[in-house]
Amino acid sequence: MSKKILIVEDEADLAQILAEYLQRDGFVATTIADGLVAMAELQRAPPDLLLLDLMLPGMDGISILRELRRSSALPVIMVTARSEEIDRLLGLELGADDYVCKPYSPREVVARVKSVLRRAQPAASPPAMPTVGGRPLEIDRDARQARVAGKSLELTPKEFRLLQVLAARPGRVFSRAQLLDAIYEDQFDVSERAIDSHLKNLRRKLAQAFPDDEPIRSIYGVGFAFES
Ligand code: CA
Repeated sequence: MSKKILIVEDEADLAQILAEYLQRDGFVATTIADGLVAMAELQRAPPDLLLLDLMLPGMDGISILRELRRSSALPVIMVTARSEEIDRLLGLELGADDYVCKPYSPREVVARVKSVLRRAQPAASPPAMPTVGGRPLEIDRDARQARVAGKSLELTPKEFRLLQVLAARPGRVFSRAQLLDAIYEDQFDVSERAIDSHLKNLRRKLAQAFPDDEPIRSIYGVGFAFES
């Protein structure tokens, strides 16, 4: 969606040129020449960014910014006709996001607008926690690590492999033979019961991470499943 820029500037030509440059760059730009009208508009329909001239009829730019900052963190770029005013403005700590001095190049103002808007962008929300069967469990194949709510489970390679196989298909029941097949390359001389000790340890470690839960269920006489 296009960002809305409000230009508060009483020099009609300047306001018009800025609006055109901003529109050419895909912004929706509106202009207001009077400070009091601007204040009312800011309350009625706040833009995404405010370009605010300092000397205005009705209400001056400093008063507008002061009033605005009581209740709003709206990005504001102050525009002033004299460079020496910038120091004064900075000293006032009004909370403007940037300052532009007249005469300015409209291109430069557009660049400043973009940069201030980028900075004002809220930080990207953290990615959703990975889950398996509704639990905050992450199987990191590359690191060969399982994590619960971001905390690593200390698993042996065989325990990890077992968990990986079971968690890949929550709800599905795996027989001992299938699990054996999955974790031993060469299973000719491994008893199916060998699975049991790995599973026992894995389930114990999971029980520590999920105290009120038993993620791996044993189905008597059939096998094991990761509970979904
Ligand atoms: Ca002015």
